[in-house]
Amino acid sequence: SHYLDRIAAANPALNAFITVDREQTLAMARAADASRAAGQAGPLTGVPIAHKDIFCAEGWRTTCGSKMLDNFVSPYDAHVVAQCKAAGLVTLGRTNMDEFAMGSSNENSAYGVVRNPWDQTAVPGGSSGGSAVAVAARLAPAATATDTGGSIRQPAAFCGVTGLKPTYGVVSRYGMVAYASSLDQGGPLAQTAEDCALLLNVMAGFDARDSTSLEVAKEDYTRELNQPLKGLRIGMPREYFGAGLAADVMSAIEAALAEYRRLGADVVEISLPRTELAIPAYYVIAPAEASSNLSRFDGVRYGHRAAEYENLADMYEKSRAEGFGAEVKRRILTGSYVLSHGYYDAYYLQAQKVRRLLSEDFQAGFAQCDVIAAPAAPTVAWNIGEKSKDPVAMYLADIYTLGVNLAGLPGIAHPVGFGSQGRPVGLQLIGNYFSEARLLNAAHQFQ
Ligand code: GLN
Repeated sequence: SHYLDRIAAANPALNAFITVDREQTLAMARAADASRAAGQAGPLTGVPIAHKDIFCAEGWRTTCGSKMLDNFVSPYDAHVVAQCKAAGLVTLGRTNMDEFAMGSSNENSAYGVVRNPWDQTAVPGGSSGGSAVAVAARLAPAATATDTGGSIRQPAAFCGVTGLKPTYGVVSRYGMVAYASSLDQGGPLAQTAEDCALLLNVMAGFDARDSTSLEVAKEDYTRELNQPLKGLRIGMPREYFGAGLAADVMSAIEAALAEYRRLGADVVEISLPRTELAIPAYYVIAPAEASSNLSRFDGVRYGHRAAEYENLADMYEKSRAEGFGAEVKRRILTGSYVLSHGYYDAYYLQAQKVRRLLSEDFQAGFAQCDVIAAPAAPTVAWNIGEKSKDPVAMYLADIYTLGVNLAGLPGIAHPVGFGSQGRPVGLQLIGNYFSEARLLNAAHQFQ
């Protein structure tokens, strides 16, 4: 009730939630109370959680930030949602996001922009802006989110909270509306690394319904939280700290690295020589996959259908023209183009080769360090409207997060201070495959 009241008071200004359903939430809370009374409570029983509106949840409207799914009430639970339910977590509502998770500012939502609680003239980051704002404004103690090219880490950084993007395959994508399937990964957003670890314990785990879910033993992500950082080697890629990085972000990160040194870590310089190829590779591969994934929204089985049409082809065309926003259409066009006969080899195939090279760069980096330090974004949160008319400027702001998804690696962003206009700065730590516990450990020691 405390959180529902806070949402009722703050959401009209912040717009972090698309859907709130007091009755369903209170029913889940009563069920959690009953299991506690019956002695069946787990560590998170009764803890409220906000779900990004990309995770299907039975009986809940699941819009994915799109007019296309405005009327869609899911008939089933995503794996992540089912796991949260089984752990006794109580759903507070559904958080706002860029349409189909395409964006870096939450300005692409069909449900309006989300406002950054630190400065309501600033964007919250995206695409998981609603989840980050819900946590930052204390409208929820934790939230689920997804990260295809930075959508957990960048909004965490812009809103001064902690977010973890796990190794690809650790969290099942079953029931998570698909954007770019080879990059999409669910993960937690919370105030602290410790809370992220507790939530990842619930979200992670093998699921046969996702063909890329990894059959690895269940881990306790809290197990290394209290380990000292003595001897931890933190790599600073020189390509990440040069031109293009704002001075205020640089100085907050330098101060954070000094704190890591004080905690016993060694900071070494490394090189990720092909960093600048991440943006062109990602903005070929992600739209290519999106153009295929979004072909399911045809107005036939579910989602928006145009009111008037002449024949089947016209129905598809009108439904999609009305249901999708401008950025989604731009990605579908780009994706169809790079996959088309005659261009496939020049763009898509090249991008896949670059993807491999970027992974090799990271592996060479990890030969010299345990974790890689990086900014989450080149600047603090920008002003609402500042980049919304310039898609390429928006894409360029993803330079420090995309490589992690292309390589399938885990990354965490945690708050390290404030930059210009009092807007938060986040530090990103990137680990090798399955090093989530180590990343959480480092962030926890810092916090
Ligand atoms: N900003 C990137 C994009 O627009 C990443 C989004 C995401 O991670 N879902 O595609």
